[in-house]
Amino acid sequence: MSKILVFGHQNPDTDAIGAAIAFSHLQNELGKTTEAVALGTPSEETQYALDHFGLTAPRVVEAAGAGTDVMLVDHNEFQQSISDIAEVNVLSVVDHHRIANFETANPLYYRAEPVGCTSTIVLKMFKESGVTIPKAIAGMMVSAIISDTLLFKSPTCTDEDVRAAKELATLAEIDLDVYGLEMLKAGTKLSDKSAEVLLDLDAKSFPMADKNVRIAQINTVDLSEVMDRQAELEAAMAETSTANGYDLFILVVTNILDSDSELLVFGEPKEKVEEAFATKLVNNRALLKGVVSRKKQVVPQLTEAFA
Ligand code: MN
Ligand code: MN
Repeated sequence: MSKILVFGHQNPDTDAIGAAIAFSHLQNELGKTTEAVALGTPSEETQYALDHFGLTAPRVVEAAGAGTDVMLVDHNEFQQSISDIAEVNVLSVVDHHRIANFETANPLYYRAEPVGCTSTIVLKMFKESGVTIPKAIAGMMVSAIISDTLLFKSPTCTDEDVRAAKELATLAEIDLDVYGLEMLKAGTKLSDKSAEVLLDLDAKSFPMADKNVRIAQINTVDLSEVMDRQAELEAAMAETSTANGYDLFILVVTNILDSDSELLVFGEPKEKVEEAFATKLVNNRALLKGVVSRKKQVVPQLTEAFA
């Protein structure tokens, strides 16, 4: 019997990889034969966590093969999933995002909770199953919560995420604040990266009305470090939009220390962006005070503007 593949979304973040590792471990303990894989290489933030806990990055896969059994974590939308998602057999989904563009041929286990991180849900599933969590896996799970909630500062963060992180931090033997900031900072080394790489670090596609909207997010400790490269970024946005058929490309640059974001927008309809955030783009840019969450503070507002 071939292995069941467990994976998070494309351009994997720490939760996509951490939750896949944790959920695969849980499933194996429960008697399934699964392998955590990834739809891309880890970011520097995720690599920092993997290194800290002595784990190797999951194997990168591009396609699962028609008929393969898979388990999705940290996503459900097909355009964010594996390339042959329409041909595989989805056994389960554990996720904390909106449900959209998702359809299966067979019944499945689907667990969605509006918490800040998939790993928070996976922790509950470990407890429900009575399976103990090894230190390194607890480490990846707490890293995922730190990443998704920006160390609890994101509005997506719930009390449950905070409790889960504290519990996992004890198992992982880390100091949450010290380790958390170090890990987040590991993901903000941007100066050595090309504009193309920056735009693809954490990017997702969303169909809105008849438009293909690409929303990329970059974490930084200095907005100007990114925005000083506006011309280079806009040229890369133009190129990737043409190549991939994006109508509108929104880059969300988030200062993880101040909890603000600046948008850089390419393509059309730009007025939907202005409408969504009740702002005026100046030089294709807008500063959004207090905005750090794509999922909660960007995508719903844009979806509403496109409706
Ligand atoms: Mn994610
Ligand atoms: Mn997540």
